[in-house]
Amino acid sequence: MSQKSDRQALASVNPADTDLIAAIATAPGRGGIGVVRVSGPTVTTLAVQLLGKTPQPRVATRAAFLGEGGQPIDDGIALYFPAPASYTGDDVLELQGHGGQVVMEMLLRRCMALGARLAEPGEFTRRAFLNDKLDLAQAEGVADLIEAATESAARCALRSLRGEFSALIGGLVRRLIELRMLVEATLDFPEEDVDAVDRDTARKRLADLRADLADAFVKGQQGSVLRTGLQVVLAGQPNVGKSSLLNRLAGEELAIVTAIPGTTRDAVRQTIQIDGVPLNIIDTAGLRDTRDEIEAIGISRTWQAIEGADALLLVVDAAIGVTVRDREIITRLPQRLPRIVVFNKIDLMGEASRTTGSAHPGGETHVWLSAKTGEGTDLLRRALLSIAGWRAASEDLFLARERHIVALARASRCMERAEAVLDQVELFAEELRLAQCELGTITGEYSADDLLGEIFSRFCIGK
Ligand code: GDP
Repeated sequence: MSQKSDRQALASVNPADTDLIAAIATAPGRGGIGVVRVSGPTVTTLAVQLLGKTPQPRVATRAAFLGEGGQPIDDGIALYFPAPASYTGDDVLELQGHGGQVVMEMLLRRCMALGARLAEPGEFTRRAFLNDKLDLAQAEGVADLIEAATESAARCALRSLRGEFSALIGGLVRRLIELRMLVEATLDFPEEDVDAVDRDTARKRLADLRADLADAFVKGQQGSVLRTGLQVVLAGQPNVGKSSLLNRLAGEELAIVTAIPGTTRDAVRQTIQIDGVPLNIIDTAGLRDTRDEIEAIGISRTWQAIEGADALLLVVDAAIGVTVRDREIITRLPQRLPRIVVFNKIDLMGEASRTTGSAHPGGETHVWLSAKTGEGTDLLRRALLSIAGWRAASEDLFLARERHIVALARASRCMERAEAVLDQVELFAEELRLAQCELGTITGEYSADDLLGEIFSRFCIGK
């Protein structure tokens, strides 16, 4: 077994973090292959009973997976990764069998009969974190990659998983530490007149750090747009061209729809993507008075989704304009919602596509277009992306989570305060220390057990 890591020591090792765990790692249902993963200190004992031997490390080994009486459960491939060179950092055995639900469950039950416990969601990755195989931001990258709704989001998540986000944060922390050392030297040896902190140097370094932190914040915020997407309320009378417009916006790009946490799935009719940004369309078509209980539940969910929405897309027939019934709907929607009014079917009127108005909160943008010919739909795409706060697809974004953004913002405020107390060395050093702690929470250098619990419990089982 691997040595106790610093993180384990800090997390005052929970016995549950050191026993033998097992789970089906592949998605439920039928598939060509299914994988059961086992991790923990007694993997080799289990292997001998299950396979008749411990497979050679990291060599795909064909084996019969044996049941209690020595009867084979399945015939598959076993892969043994001795600690510490494994995903979790402990001994790991991966059993690739035939991907049927029954056979996978029989295999899992057999592992449990041999002493394994069913792994909690994300427990393999939690162990990898505790064994210093990856930091917290990387662990979150694992979950984000699995949940990514668009290719851009997946690319961003992979970059976090591979440690690029952590490296950026680590770089900032290192520079903060250097600056702290510079000023703390004068605290420790005041009488020796160690090169009194060269204020200009400190000021310059702090300014550079603040600029780079601000840059990381922007990249994180942009990345979080890719994570959560934009919730768009769709309104408009029948036949104005709402479906045609959505089809046109979705274009050739395949929308891979996954449930976004916090949104009620049945209130969202469709997810499309624009430049990799997911757009969840909340349809108002079903909003009407009803006595039907089930329908009423659906309607109340739609209203909940509308409460958390980012924008309203009202589609009207350009020849008719905004009708009284449209206005009735709009007045029932939150006033703060930025509105985009689409004047559709300009092809029938010989009008040119154009856009007017502002995309500010509470503002209204007007876009004239034709869903039929496609003229002007790019203007609408741009208006929607601008409401999402999306600049341009860039390769170096990070799929930041809310807690990352909060930590970056807090660190930034500490540095702002540090700048204000540059003349008071002790206060200055303290603000730098606090900024460092905030950044440390991102990678998990300083993190409470309950945060770990919250993060890993959202993973799927077997990861
Ligand atoms: P919805 O009920 O609002 O979803 O409207 P649809 O998308 O089903 O469109 C209603 C009708 O209007 C269909 O016959 C569409 O082909 C037509 N339509 C939609 N957009 C346009 C447009 O831009 N120009 C023209 N000429 N017809 C359109």
